[in-house]
Amino acid sequence: MTRTIDAVDFFFLAMPVIEPVADGSQDALLVRVQAGDAVGWGECESSPLPTIAALVTPMSHSACHPVSASVLGQPIERPEDILRIHQAVRENSLDLLQADHALSGIDVALWDLLGQVRGEPVYRLLGEPRAYPKIPYASVLFGETPAETYTKAKTIRAQGFRAAKFGWGSFGRGSVQEDADLLAAAREGLGAEGILLVDAGTVWGHDVASAQARMDALRAQRVTWLEEPFYTGALEAYQALAGSGGVALAAGEGAHNEDHAQHLIDYGRVGYIQIDTGRIGGITSARRVVLHAQRRGVQYVNHTFTSALALSASLQPYVGIEAFELCEYPTELKPLARDLASAPLLPDADGMLRIPDAPGLGLEPNLETVRRYLQDVEMRVQGRVVYKTPAI
Ligand SMILES: [Mg+2]
Repeated sequence: MTRTIDAVDFFFLAMPVIEPVADGSQDALLVRVQAGDAVGWGECESSPLPTIAALVTPMSHSACHPVSASVLGQPIERPEDILRIHQAVRENSLDLLQADHALSGIDVALWDLLGQVRGEPVYRLLGEPRAYPKIPYASVLFGETPAETYTKAKTIRAQGFRAAKFGWGSFGRGSVQEDADLLAAAREGLGAEGILLVDAGTVWGHDVASAQARMDALRAQRVTWLEEPFYTGALEAYQALAGSGGVALAAGEGAHNEDHAQHLIDYGRVGYIQIDTGRIGGITSARRVVLHAQRRGVQYVNHTFTSALALSASLQPYVGIEAFELCEYPTELKPLARDLASAPLLPDADGMLRIPDAPGLGLEPNLETVRRYLQDVEMRVQGRVVYKTPAI
């Protein structure tokens, strides 16, 4: 008997208070897909309510179907079925911009479900015989002052991390000297041997000169990459800065399809492409970027700032490729994200991160955590309920 998709459920979780800081772990959109007795889980890296709307919205026109219409009732037996569903969502919801976010979590859940059915980790379903350990970099926000940044870096080093990334906060917003002081503090705290990464969080928009003004300070502190100096689509700015030399550029978390990511590689000339499976279109799209990065000799890195579930999903597309050595590892999670998975994903005693050798993502959500942070939502059109928070 062919297994078909019976249900796609979205769960909006949120901390009691949402603060205006660059911390995406304050809420979550969890996805559950069911096909017969098989269940798969995923996460969308998105603003939850518009993404729920993309799942359930009544058809607007023929290129604006709700995402659920391309998923429900579809057979799910083999990887080709996921590729077919993925393509159908892209075609049938072509003009629905939030569809990529909704698709991302569904695609992850479908790979998880298929892994459960087959008894295989997702990376093996993608054709990789084994998983390689990665060097996790502790991903944190810059401190408000050099002293606070120094303390953060020292703490990260004491925790056994060999690599750290500092980002957002006031970096790039004040003077060049203030940024140089933040960078020097990070380097001092991390030690001479540490791998230091910097995330500008798109602070300079399209402004190449402001980015260039920081290059000497970045070089002086031997920063391995400068991440997101510009908006995702500012390819000319990326190209100009990449050509000025010295520090490799990194970007890609803003990519919500594989074309965006490939353009950053081919035209933006980034040295590191960073992909969030919860945003780009799931594991299917991320895997395509992995293969493109390999062809172009560019380093692939995951982007993840939320739960261990999302971390595992972000690792599956490239964990089988030994040459891609680094992985983002969030270390400042809100309790919601910290407790969302059934178990944490911790670095081993040697400081390396390994993903579980277990079916699917190798982790599942902790349903107690889900119930604790679950938001009660109802969406109605002309009195008809099109969405109501599902039972967990
Ligand atoms: Mg970033």
